Parts: sequence; structure tokens; C-alpha cells
Amino acid sequence: MSDPRNVLVTGGNRGIGLAIAQAFAAAGDNVVVTNRSGEAPEGLQAVRCEVTDTASVDQAFTEAEQLLGGPIEVLVANAGITRDTLLMRMSDEDFDQVIDTNLAGAFRCARRASKGMIKLRRGRMIFISSVVGLYGSPGQANYASSKSGLVGLARSITRELGGRGITANVVAPGFIETDMTAALPDETVAGYKKAIPAGRLAQPAEVAAAVTFLASPDAGYISGAVIPVDGGLGM
Ligand code: NAD
Repeated sequence: MSDPRNVLVTGGNRGIGLAIAQAFAAAGDNVVVTNRSGEAPEGLQAVRCEVTDTASVDQAFTEAEQLLGGPIEVLVANAGITRDTLLMRMSDEDFDQVIDTNLAGAFRCARRASKGMIKLRRGRMIFISSVVGLYGSPGQANYASSKSGLVGLARSITRELGGRGITANVVAPGFIETDMTAALPDETVAGYKKAIPAGRLAQPAEVAAAVTFLASPDAGYISGAVIPVDGGLGM
């Protein structure tokens, strides 16, 4: 067991983010989740954060650092949205909103987190992408672009800050049982199950396991990596 770290998970009030926050808390780490209301899920501390707003991100980190009594050592950039529609119908707003939340939101958090991590000369950044970012998906040009962008972000951070004891990695979930996938029609889910070698959707805790591994001392030499958690879907 490693010393407790200060962990911040964006969008950690439900779904995959909540499972990640709970996994860190269960391991004894000090966790703050961010969400847009600032309401705390049971047993966790929360601060309000709108990832499309730089001032809100900076303020959320300041509040989280006050709650935890020190800089954030592990950032999990998990907040994300979809606005699916076919390319020919996709508005500028559909595209910009998804990029601003999923990619620029992660960038704003990474930039703020890097300040404390550089001073500490250690830190872990983990970006929640998607298999869709690696392989594309019809109706998701905006979402796929945002999620592939996270790979470039993590790899650039690896090259820029690797020498300061900071790692940056990407976890790319396949289809996970959350509110995001509960909205899909039954026949779509049945089609996914057929295409996934594992024959099922994953539980959020299975994504959390990859994230906590990347934040663990055992993963100290892993940086710029993309770890799919997809039951073999993308291979
Ligand atoms: P979810 O919709 O249940 O949760 C998303 C979280 O992001 C929520 O807490 C929401 O409040 C937060 N959020 C959204 N926009 C925000 C903003 N502007 N500012 C601050 N917070 C904001 O989704 P989920 O299924 O738990 O997904 C979590 C992450 O995993 C997302 O990045 C998603 O793209 C990714 N992902 C999910 C799946 C899946 O199958 N569910 C698959 C691959 C990747």
C-alpha cells in the first residue's frame, strides 16, 4: 500500500467517475470529486467545477487543495459529454461544445494540475478517452475527435513533463453500463454485445481498476500509454 495521495476526479458524481473516486477512496487516498452542482456523493468530498470555464477549473483546484491540505497529486480527467448526430447535420455548436468539454476541459484541468505537480516533482494524470477516439464511430465525429485529442494531450504532457516525475496516460473504455449507455436503444446494445469478444458491457469498477493501477507506484514507468478497457472490442 502506498502513502495516501490527493486525488481529484472530474465528473466524479456518477457513472465511471464515481467508481474511480470510490476506488481511490477505498485504497485510502484523499479524494475530491468535481461536478457542476458541487453536491457530494455519499462518503466523498466535492467541489463545483464547470470544465468549460477556466476560472471555474482554477477555483475548483484551489478549493480542492484547501480541503485536502496540499496540491493534487493524481488528476483523473473524466468529465465528458456526447452530442451525437450525423456529420452532415452536425452544427458548429454540436462540435464545439463536445470539444470544449471533453478535450479543452481536460486540458484546463491538466494545466492547473501541472502547477502543483511540477513543484512536488511528482504527479499522475489519467485521461478518460474512449474506444471511439481510437477507431471512430458513425454519428460521433465530435466525440471521437475530442477523445483522440486526449491521446495527443497525454503524449505531449509525457514529453514535456516526464522529466519532472509526472506521468500522463489514457484509459479508453469500450461500452460501460452507465447513464450514458442506458440511453441507447435495446437493439443497439444487443449489437454491441455481439461485437464485443467478452460478450457483455463492462461495469464502471472495471475502468476504475485500470485508472488506479496507472496511479499506483507499480505504474511509475508507464507514460503516454493508451489502455483500452473494452473486452477486446477494438483489437
Ligand atoms: P456520465 O454522463 O454518467 O458522467 C459524465 C460526468 O461528466 C458527469 O458527472 C457530468 O456532470 C460531468 N460533466 C459533463 N460535462 C461537464 C462540464 N461541462 N463540466 C463539469 N462536469 C461535466 O458519463 P459516464 O458514462 O460515467 O462517462 C464518464 C467518462 O467516460 C466520459 O468522459 C465518457 O466520455 C467516457 N466514456 C464512457 C463510456 C461509457 O460506455 N459509458 C465509454 C467510453 C468512454
